[in-house]
Amino acid sequence: MAEPALDKAFKHKVAKYLEGRLPTNCDTCGVCSSACPVHQHVTAFDPRKFVRMINLGYKDELLGNTAIWYCALCNTCTVACPQDVRFKQIMEVLQKIALAEGYVPPSFVDELRKIEQACQAYRCEQIASRLIELNPELHKTEVT
Ligand code: SF4
Ligand code: SF4
Repeated sequence: MAEPALDKAFKHKVAKYLEGRLPTNCDTCGVCSSACPVHQHVTAFDPRKFVRMINLGYKDELLGNTAIWYCALCNTCTVACPQDVRFKQIMEVLQKIALAEGYVPPSFVDELRKIEQACQAYRCEQIASRLIELNPELHKTEVT
């Protein structure tokens, strides 16, 4: 199988959206991946690996992968990183570039928002159901 073409300038493109901050200070410690709630369920979603791919120039592999849209944008990785890499912001940049360069159609953004809203409704419904099970005296706020 042919090796993927590398784009050595990709990290600079990402950095342009981050006030010039290159993600090259990553020391691959893996703290971000360990802390990431998405990685705990989808091991292929691996912040440490993604930073490495950016630095090595695997642009097409990253931007053409559904995984860059799995990020919950919770900021846990950024808070945990000892090297101040700010991976949550990097994920937002990858999504922005993927949209701008046509890796995904613009209409997907609306779909993504709908999925996120449905997730929030599901979460609240589950929390309410469990709480009412534990204490039927509680007042349930209806989830619409
Ligand atoms: S926590 Fe920071 S330094 Fe460690 S692998 Fe993740 S991005 Fe790199
Ligand atoms: S912002 Fe994204 S990559 Fe970072 S911990 Fe949250 S879900 Fe994981």
